[in-house]
Amino acid sequence: MLSQRANEFTSFIVMDVMAKAEELERKGEHVIHLEVGEPDFMTPKVIEEAAQEALKKQKIKYTHALGLLELREAICEYYYNEYHVSLSPDQILVTTGTSPALLFAMLAIINPGEDVIVSNPRYPCYQNFIIAAGGLVNEIVTYPEEGFQYRPDDIKKKITPKTKAIMINSPCNPTGIVMSKDALQTIAQFDKQFIISDEIYHGLVYKERAHSILEFTDKAFVINGFSKLYAMTGWRLGYCIFPKEFSKVMQRIHQNFMISVNNFIQWAGIAALKYAKQDVETMRQTYNTRRQYMIERLQAMGFIIHVEPTGAFYVFADARAFCSDSYKEAFNIIEKVKVGVTPGIDFGSAGQGFLRFSYATSLENIEEGLNRIEKYLKDK
Ligand code: PMP
Repeated sequence: MLSQRANEFTSFIVMDVMAKAEELERKGEHVIHLEVGEPDFMTPKVIEEAAQEALKKQKIKYTHALGLLELREAICEYYYNEYHVSLSPDQILVTTGTSPALLFAMLAIINPGEDVIVSNPRYPCYQNFIIAAGGLVNEIVTYPEEGFQYRPDDIKKKITPKTKAIMINSPCNPTGIVMSKDALQTIAQFDKQFIISDEIYHGLVYKERAHSILEFTDKAFVINGFSKLYAMTGWRLGYCIFPKEFSKVMQRIHQNFMISVNNFIQWAGIAALKYAKQDVETMRQTYNTRRQYMIERLQAMGFIIHVEPTGAFYVFADARAFCSDSYKEAFNIIEKVKVGVTPGIDFGSAGQGFLRFSYATSLENIEEGLNRIEKYLKDK
């Protein structure tokens, strides 16, 4: 029999859409993928070469449980250059992707029955990391007209003596919204709770620069990684930055559950931080061209985009004029015109009636996909 906890883990609805896409593709259909949140670019050469070089040098042993010192130093340097925050390497844990960093942060701070504030809508895995650590999900509904951002008063109302942390994600999946400096400063004032800031889409911003929560408070766990900015999803490399007093416990958690991250992949991470700036800039500009095109087309088709998404690679479009059930709509779209999109309900009840479009695919694919959806809506 499954444990009660295992039973509570929710699944990713987008996976159902992807399974449908695969089924159609097996039948020979040409499916356009606007549902996936994964860069279509190859990992920059300079990163790949660093991994190959490290392998040649037999960098194949366990590393320090917190990660290679050289990589942790490079992360410190990166956060100093980008945000002017001073970190020390013993405040950083290198993990196999951002996802375990989230789990370990939750394990480090949550006692049974304590809760973490998350927004509705949000990245669907958050609740499961909280549940895995024995915590409760304290959900705050946010509103499309405000770019689905927290209202500080709503946070105040939701905080209980058992609220341990507030989860933020900017640039945001699914909305593509970048939190302003003011909004981050306001959140940082909740100093009785930890802020867990998922900064995985940092660097993928197209207008204003993204601020790190660490510019405003030290009482934060920052979750970041290489998957998105450096097109390294399959490499599995991420990290967690935490308050100094958590150094020993984070080391202990990682020693026990993971021992360490792949040695030679950590060397690739160093190359990413130090030498891939130009590659990242080329990808960023390409995403931005696609973003502008996608926004214009969706608006022309009658989707409402309440607040311009200026980060990550998503547009979270209001489709309530066409549909009330985003799950059914996503399946109708893929069945009728063979385009994958992610139903807003995947991200929480407040996302119902919305569809998430990813522009992590070529402009040609985006154009073709949107042409097909335009036809679908006309024929509806
Ligand atoms: N946070 C957010 C908001 C994400 O969108 C993702 C990936 N979809 C992750 C974390 C996890 O990324 P990874 O484990 O590949 O670093």
